[in-house]
Amino acid sequence: MLTCKSCSQRYDLSQNIIRCGCGGILENDIQSGDISEGPSIWERFRDFFDLDIETDFSLGEGNTPLVKSNNIADRYDIDLYFKNETVNPTWSFKDRGTFTGLNRAINLGYSKLGTVSTGNMGVSVAAYGSRAKLDTNVLVSSTISENKIKQIAAYGPRIIKVKGDYGQLYFESLDLGKEKDIYFLNSDDPFRVEGYKTIGFEIFEEMIPDHILMPTSSGGLFRGIVKGFRELIESDLLSEMPNLISIQSEGCSPIYRAYKEGKENIDHWDDPDSVAHSIENPYPPSGDGVLRLVKKYDGTILTVDNDEILAAQKELAEDGIFAQPASCVGIAALEQLTEKGIIDEKEKVISIITGAGIKDVSSVKVNDNTKSCKMEDLKDNL
Ligand SMILES: *Cc1c(COP(=O)(O)O)cnc(C)c1O
Ligand SMILES: [Zn+2]
Repeated sequence: MLTCKSCSQRYDLSQNIIRCGCGGILENDIQSGDISEGPSIWERFRDFFDLDIETDFSLGEGNTPLVKSNNIADRYDIDLYFKNETVNPTWSFKDRGTFTGLNRAINLGYSKLGTVSTGNMGVSVAAYGSRAKLDTNVLVSSTISENKIKQIAAYGPRIIKVKGDYGQLYFESLDLGKEKDIYFLNSDDPFRVEGYKTIGFEIFEEMIPDHILMPTSSGGLFRGIVKGFRELIESDLLSEMPNLISIQSEGCSPIYRAYKEGKENIDHWDDPDSVAHSIENPYPPSGDGVLRLVKKYDGTILTVDNDEILAAQKELAEDGIFAQPASCVGIAALEQLTEKGIIDEKEKVISIITGAGIKDVSSVKVNDNTKSCKMEDLKDNL
């Protein structure tokens, strides 16, 4: 069943609903079970899904490597790992949740799919919608870059550039979806969050960290990973929650602001201005949910600025990973976290590297070592 996190109203899974009538976010019941054997994550974690899963539509999402850091780990004297989500089918963790959300839409009998996104989610929904032969609609903001729109267009969905308040478009799409029979699989859909749980399960299969660093925008990723760990605890597989650390970009940090001011509800962030475009949601629909979870588990929320983010992008490259700016905020926060004593020497830390750098190369500077020469002069230039 689904439960509203604001008014506690319960909904049967046969009911076609994405958000509670009161406006609150919905969450699937906490599941419990055991981890099974098998190559695909949908086989291994099948006990934890109250959903009929059609694996023919899978693109092999998940099963991403946990990569040990050498260089950054040495710098901070910690035991650091990257959960490398850049190797998913459309190069971000969004694919895990798009796959479970797609299955929900199909279970409910939908033949039309939609999403509101300027970036990774639009690409992901376009790919899975195409594979499942659904009529797919991606609503983007009118200011979307040429580079981003092409990544979505490659899969052939209907793309609509919408002028107007982009935050409002989320709510508008849910209303129009009802009217037009389109399942709008947006950022914090309860079944999208179910897919993100698998990151928590995969981490648990390999190790139990002391701290987990999560870039946070709408809050779906944070909610999903935490739900995964809660279900492991509920199943007596894990004894306690790792320390939860949510990181926002300073130029758009409505959840951090509410946390710092001791509020229970977030307010709209005017004028977002960040290099980390994938985490620039000015009015995160799961913002209040993240605040509740951070409080409940005594976690932390903090921010990093643009310079710190771009420096972290370079640092990650020193460890061999090219990630997009939004994915680098966890690494950018390490200095603050170790200085404040939130992370101690030698502790086990996992940073979720959410999406690939190759999606947007505009923030990369071609370094001073780059030069040109004639072939006959090559010998003198090496
Ligand atoms: C979507 C996204 C995030 C943030 O996830 P939320 O569920 O919106 O909090 C972080 N990094 C990247 C690369 C993303 O695409
Ligand atoms: Zn409600």
